[in-house]
Amino acid sequence: MDFDWTDDDVRYRAELRAFLQEALGRDWRGYDKTDHGAYKAAAGEFCRKMAEHGYLTQSWPREYGGQDASAWRSAILSEEIGSPYGEPRGSQYMNVNWIGPAIMRFGTPDQKAYFLPRISAGDVTWAQGFSEPDAGSDLASLRTRAIRDGDDYVVTGEKIWTSHTAIAEWIFLLVRTDADEKRSKGISVLLVPMDTPGLTVHQIPGVAGEGAFSNPVFTEMRVPVANRLGPENGGWAVVRYALAFERIGVAHYRHAENQLNAVARAANARGLGDDPAVQAKLGEAWEAIEAARLLYYRVVDLRAKDAPPSADTSIARVAGTRAYQLVADAADLVLGEYGLEGVGRSRFNLTAGITSGTTEVQLDQVATKHLDLPRPHVGA
Ligand SMILES: Cc1cc2nc3c(=O)[nH]c(=O)nc-3n(C[C@H](O)[C@H](O)[C@H](O)COP(=O)(O)OP(=O)(O)OC[C@H]3O[C@@H](n4cnc5c(N)ncnc54)[C@H](O)[C@@H]3O)c2cc1C
Repeated sequence: MDFDWTDDDVRYRAELRAFLQEALGRDWRGYDKTDHGAYKAAAGEFCRKMAEHGYLTQSWPREYGGQDASAWRSAILSEEIGSPYGEPRGSQYMNVNWIGPAIMRFGTPDQKAYFLPRISAGDVTWAQGFSEPDAGSDLASLRTRAIRDGDDYVVTGEKIWTSHTAIAEWIFLLVRTDADEKRSKGISVLLVPMDTPGLTVHQIPGVAGEGAFSNPVFTEMRVPVANRLGPENGGWAVVRYALAFERIGVAHYRHAENQLNAVARAANARGLGDDPAVQAKLGEAWEAIEAARLLYYRVVDLRAKDAPPSADTSIARVAGTRAYQLVADAADLVLGEYGLEGVGRSRFNLTAGITSGTTEVQLDQVATKHLDLPRPHVGA
């Protein structure tokens, strides 16, 4: 078994590093997200540069504006672009990782022709409208209703914890198109412009930063049937496909490693580097990061071989969350409470165990798959 990168991969990583330093500057410390216009413009400019260099959608097929790059190239890109100061692509990382691939797989020729070139040029921003006040982990119980009326759906309901709405032009929206089917069978996906009449966005103040979350409300919002992605009542297959890509689309272990290196430098600067308790804590965090890295690589390997998504994705994701949490503990020990603020606090340290499926739910999936247990009972 050989875990080394090829010479080509090493060259590619060096090239990518040089590009990132040039495009972002050596001392990039994240975007100021309080100014939504400036944030959107800066992230857009960066994505367009990535697109010009062929990096933005490199893993996509050439016919859709990609380079047919291997899953390993994407993994290297995720590692290099990972920063404790944020995601330089802004919300466009979602376009590349799962919205584009879902459109490629389930879109009509018109939808592909409209959306994919815009995504691969770095010209469009999306939000993800999945969770509802009573449908988070149990997403299949969602109630936002879409009733067919001629060539339109009329949508009424609400979403919650929706990120990126302050900068998004489109929302990837899960709706219930069959009210008699209570769970996953009656769900469809609609691709909806954010300026559609009947859509009102309420911002939610919170720990993850102003404007980080919102509560979009839909009041008799009309959406053309032509904007449905995939079959009517067949949206669950689209979501499962999209989420499998989303869960390891970010190299969480690499963010955590960057933070841990900063904590170690701080420990040395404070004369704590040789404290056995500090060493044990930092060592534990390092071990968790390495374990997460190898588990992510296992999923990358499956993807490189075109194998279907599996429970391995959940195991990797849980390991990534554990790495973040142990780094946060290490930072608390070395720098005191809120210590991560000083070394580039990422909201991932706070929220990694919740977003795109909580740790508990991922562990349910792991137990069901690997320990021959029945699926847990949820909802009605
Ligand atoms: C940073 C961040 C960004 C987000 N962005 C978006 C976004 O852009 N769009 C969007 O739609 N949503 C978004 N979310 C919402 C996220 O998807 C939900 O918070 C998540 O799915 C959990 O749902 P919930 O909050 O309703 O918690 P609940 O589902 O109510 O869960 C509450 C608790 O119960 C536990 N639990 C629930 N069911 C089970 C079970 N079967 N077995 C064991 N334990 C269980 C959970 O693990 C959790 O600890 C975001 C969340 C965060 C933190």
